[in-house]
Amino acid sequence: MTETKSMIYADNAATAPLDSDAFEAMKPYLGQEFGNASQPYAFARKPKQALAWARSAIAACIGADDDEIFFSSGGTESDNWAIKGVFCPGSAHTAITSQTEHHAVLNAFKTMELFGCPAVYLPPDSGGIIAPGALARALTGGAKLVSIMTANNEIGAIAPIKALCAVSHDAGALFHTDAVQAVGHIPIDVSDLGIDMLSASAHKFNGPKGIGFLYIRKGTPLRPLIDGGAQESGMRAGTENVASIVGMAAALQKSCNLMHQTAEKLRAMDRIFTETLRRANIDFIRNGAPNRLPGIINISIRGASGEMLLHRLDLKGISISAGAACDSKNTQISHVLKAIGAPPDYAPGTVRISFGRCNAHEDAEAVADAVIRILKR
Ligand code: PLP
Repeated sequence: MTETKSMIYADNAATAPLDSDAFEAMKPYLGQEFGNASQPYAFARKPKQALAWARSAIAACIGADDDEIFFSSGGTESDNWAIKGVFCPGSAHTAITSQTEHHAVLNAFKTMELFGCPAVYLPPDSGGIIAPGALARALTGGAKLVSIMTANNEIGAIAPIKALCAVSHDAGALFHTDAVQAVGHIPIDVSDLGIDMLSASAHKFNGPKGIGFLYIRKGTPLRPLIDGGAQESGMRAGTENVASIVGMAAALQKSCNLMHQTAEKLRAMDRIFTETLRRANIDFIRNGAPNRLPGIINISIRGASGEMLLHRLDLKGISISAGAACDSKNTQISHVLKAIGAPPDYAPGTVRISFGRCNAHEDAEAVADAVIRILKR
């Protein structure tokens, strides 16, 4: 085993590095092409064309029409919009979600409860999956909206979205999915899936931070979340962040073009990482249903402390996560691990290693070796 010396970033599910081509595509709009895309004069033409190109490029990547893509400030805003835009305060309609959602969804649901909308938080199975049958049973009580994530940010479990959407529609409910971890990483075709709304965030697919989009199927009864000017067909006010929108589209195109080869590489790294731990007789369990996002490796090590591992790895220049990234100060067992019933002798020793396109194959063995050295000390 060789001592790890260089920095290894293995927290791509928290955020991924900005792709160099996406950065290049952004530059003109951070410089000379600074015009306000909403203005009618010639100086606004290029930014306006860039917005149209970006909308069309994003739509093509997920099987949508251009006018079904609405730019937002990221995954959190898109989730809040999809959930809060469906209900009027005081309406007593029920909304259904799962216990393993990101806090952007869970806390939006809590707010809707304060406004009088009853909420149902479905428990997943031990792999983190809501079965369509379980959702169908919950829907017999009636609901206006179902929100279930495409892939979980902690354990990577991929939900049976097409079937979940179908049972929601059969019961007359709208279907939203938080696909923040999935877009650009696994194939997504909104037309085939039948979903009404989908949230995405650029920094999870090597785009810039603070930009995302909400797919809204034509005819979906959704109100704006942010009131103001007429941007985004009156659905999302605020001067468009043209540079970031262009960077997001360029990053998504590249991620989708490279999707299959990236997935293959990440699955190979997953095998190397887990086999290295097994060879060293580390007692761990793998979290998340077998159908998982490539790149997310969530393991619970018996008798270990995930927090201690995170800090010791950090001292060796390796960045990983001991829980959901947006919660990195929280050393409690995460809401996801609780919901899947992670065994108490393993759960505190949970870490999430998330490799991405920019990692080298050797990073998998290097991180595993570092984990083994720390545990055996
Ligand atoms: N939803 C999921 C599943 C996420 O993983 C994240 C970020 O970690 C978000 C929503 C929030 O996205 P953003 O950081 O763009 O607000």
